[in-house]
Amino acid sequence: MRRRRIVVKGVVQGVGFRPFIYKTAVEKGLKGWVNNTSAGVFIEVEGELVKIESFMKNLKSSSLPLLHIESLEWEDMIVKGEEKGFEIVKSEAHDTPLTLISPDVATCPQCAAEITRDWDRRNSYPFTNCTNCGPRFSIIKELPYDRPMTTMSEFKMCPSCQKEYEDPMNRRFHAQPNACPDCGPELWLSDPDGKMIESKDPVNEVVELLKKGKIIAIKGLGGFHLACNGFSEDHINELRSRKNRPFKPFALMMRDVETVKEYCEVQEAEEALLSGPKAPIVLLRPGKKIMPSSIAPGNKRIGVMLPYTPLHHLLFQKGIKVLVMTSANSSGLPMIYKNEDVFKELDGIADFYLFHNRDIHVPVDDSVTVVVENEERIIRRARGYAPLPLDLGWVGDGFAYGPHLKNTFAFSKGGKVFISQHQGDMGNYEHIEHYRKNRNHFKKIFKFDPKFSAADLHPDIPISEMARKEDSGLYEIQHHHAHIASCMAENGLRKRDKVIGLAFDGTGYGTDGKMWGGEVLICSYENFDRVGHLNYIALPGGEAAVKEPWRSALSYLRESFTEDIPDELIEVDPMKKKVVLQMLKTGLNSPKTSSMGRFFDGISALLGIKYTSTYEGEPAIALESVAIPVDGEYSFELVLTEGKWVIDTKNTVREIVKDIKNKKNIGEIAGKFHNTVISFSLKLCIMFREKRDINKVALSGGVFQNEYLLEGLCRKLLEKGFEVYTHKKVPCNDGGISLGQLAVAGARKEIEDVCSSTS
Ligand SMILES: [Zn+2]
Ligand SMILES: [Zn+2]
Ligand SMILES: [Zn+2]
Repeated sequence: MRRRRIVVKGVVQGVGFRPFIYKTAVEKGLKGWVNNTSAGVFIEVEGELVKIESFMKNLKSSSLPLLHIESLEWEDMIVKGEEKGFEIVKSEAHDTPLTLISPDVATCPQCAAEITRDWDRRNSYPFTNCTNCGPRFSIIKELPYDRPMTTMSEFKMCPSCQKEYEDPMNRRFHAQPNACPDCGPELWLSDPDGKMIESKDPVNEVVELLKKGKIIAIKGLGGFHLACNGFSEDHINELRSRKNRPFKPFALMMRDVETVKEYCEVQEAEEALLSGPKAPIVLLRPGKKIMPSSIAPGNKRIGVMLPYTPLHHLLFQKGIKVLVMTSANSSGLPMIYKNEDVFKELDGIADFYLFHNRDIHVPVDDSVTVVVENEERIIRRARGYAPLPLDLGWVGDGFAYGPHLKNTFAFSKGGKVFISQHQGDMGNYEHIEHYRKNRNHFKKIFKFDPKFSAADLHPDIPISEMARKEDSGLYEIQHHHAHIASCMAENGLRKRDKVIGLAFDGTGYGTDGKMWGGEVLICSYENFDRVGHLNYIALPGGEAAVKEPWRSALSYLRESFTEDIPDELIEVDPMKKKVVLQMLKTGLNSPKTSSMGRFFDGISALLGIKYTSTYEGEPAIALESVAIPVDGEYSFELVLTEGKWVIDTKNTVREIVKDIKNKKNIGEIAGKFHNTVISFSLKLCIMFREKRDINKVALSGGVFQNEYLLEGLCRKLLEKGFEVYTHKKVPCNDGGISLGQLAVAGARKEIEDVCSSTS
C-alpha cells in the first residue's frame, strides 16, 4: 500500500481533466481525492503501487483534446487508510496561481450533433457546451475556474443539468458553463430601436432576414459580428458602404468543410485548423467556384472560418451556406461585446440585432492564420490561442506595453510569457481605456507582479506616453530591435545568441529620430547594431503618404532621377501633384524614412496598382497579388554611408520606369521587383556573415506577411547554408512586438542586476 500526492500544472481546468482523473482512479480501485486549485490540480491517491503507477501513466497519456500538461510532480506520503473511495473535493483559491486558462473552444462534434437531434433536450439550443468545448477565457472573471467565478453565475442549473454536472461519468461533469433550454441563456431578436421582435424561433427569423439582404449584428462568443449574405455582391457592398470600409477584406463563415472546398483550395494542414478546436479564420487560396470579388478585393487569399458556436451551427442548418462575418468594431478596436453598447456603436449599420444574455467578460476577436509551406503562421492571435503562454525560460517577471498599432501586451511570470489577445490600434483615449481594462483583468486573474516594464521608444505615441507616466524605471525599446527579439524568443534562441536581423515593416521610431522600417540589425536580446538599411527617402506629408502611396512613388522618382522626373506616370490631380513635388523640393513636412513598407507602397503606386490605401498594407498586398514569379531582377547598389551599408534603390526605380515605358507586363515587373528585394536581402546576409561570423538570420516585421518575399528569401538563405528563423506562433507584424519588448527588457534587467550585485 502507498499514498501519493500528485500536482499537475498546465491547461488543466475546464478541459474535463477532473472527471478523467475520477474515472481512472475508480477504475483502478484507488482511494483519495482530487482538488482543483488556482495553482493546479492536486491529487492524493492511496492503493497498490502498481495501480498508482498505472494511474499516473494514464494521466500522462490522456488524449483529452484540450488538456495540456506542463508539469506533473509527485511525492510519497504516509498511508492514511481512512478513505472509503475517491472523491472530487471543492475548488479553492491559492496564493500563487500558475494555472493556465483555456482559450474559448469551438463546439465539439458531440455537442454539434445534439442540437440537430429532434429527441434531444438540447435540440436547437444555441448555448450547448460540454467539458470539451464552449466558452472559457471570455467568461472567466476570476480563478479558480468554477461557475460562480464566471458570467454563468446568474444562471441556476435545472435538476437535469445539475445531475449531468455531478455525474463523473457524464460528458458534462463539472462543465462550468453547462446549460439547457430550461435553465440557460436565451436569444432574442431586436430592431434598431431596441424593440424586441416577438418570435418563437429568432434563429429562423434571422435566416429569413439574411436571405432578404439585411445586415444583422450577431452576438457570439467573444463579441458581436456583422453578418450578411456572402453570395451577394450587392449586400456585401451595402455593408462596405455602411461600415465605411471600401476594400479591407471581410471574413467568411461557411457551413462546413465541404462547402469551403467548393470555393477554396484546402490543404490538409488548413483543414485541420479550420475544423480544430481553435477554429480560426484561415486565409485560403480561391478554388474553382468564384466568390463575389468584393469580399477581398486585391487579395490573393480569402479568410474563411467554420461555425464555432452552436448558434452558428443553427444558422447554417437553416439553409445558409456562406455568410460574411466581420467583427463589429469601431476603428481599430476589438469587437463590441456589451449588449448596452451595441445600438450606439452600430447605429446606421445593422438592420437587426440578435442578442443573448450570457455576458462576455473579456472581448476576444477571431484569430487569423495562414499556412505557408505547410506550416501555420499566425497573423492575428486572439480567440482559441490567447491566453496560452509561450515558454521563455530565462526571462524574469515583467510587463511589456506593446506597440501603437495591432497592439498586444505581454506579462511574464515564472519563465512564461502571456501575450494578450489582439487589442487593436492605440489611437486615442478610448482605445487606451479599453486596453487598461484588459490589462488589469490579466493582472488580476493571473496575479502578475511585474518587476520591470518595457515600451516603445517612440516619443509621442499614446501607449508609450502612458507607460512613461506610469513607470519611472521603464525600458524603452527600439521598435525593430523588438521585432527581431520577438522572432528570437519565439524560436527559443539562447541568451548569448546573435543574429543578423532583417526587420522590414511600415515604420518605427529610430534612434536617430528618423522613421525606420527597412533595417539590417546585428542583434542579441539586450542590444543591437544597425549595420544597414534601405535608403532614406522623404515622405511628403508624413502620415498622409501612408494613405496616399502615390506620394511615396513621387518621392522615389525624385530620388532616382536628377532631372526630367517622369512624374507623368503618376496620374493624380495635377494640382496635388505639384504641391507634393514642391514639398519634396523644399523638404517641408517631409520626414525621412527607410521604410520597406513605403518602398512596396511606392512601387505599387508607380505601377498604377494602388494610389490610395484604406487599410494597413493594402498597396503592398495588391502588388504581391499581381506579381508573377519570373526570373530576373532589377539592379541596386550597396553603398557604405556613415558606417552603414545603405541599399541604394535609384537603379531599381530607373529600370522599373524603363519597363513601364516599354509597356512590359505589370505582373512581371512586380515579380522582378520582389526578386530584387530578395536579392539585396540575401547579399546583405552573406556580407554580414563574413564580416561578423554570424550564421543565424531572423526575419521579422509586417512586410514578411508577403509570401512571395518570405518563401523566396527563405529558400535562398537555406541554399546558402544559413540558419533561418521566422515567425509561426506569434505574428511577424506588430502583434509580436510585446514579446520582443519583454525579451529585450528582461535581458537588460538581468545584466543590470548582475552588475549591481557585483559592484
Ligand atoms: Zn461539447
Ligand atoms: Zn438545464
Ligand atoms: Zn513593426
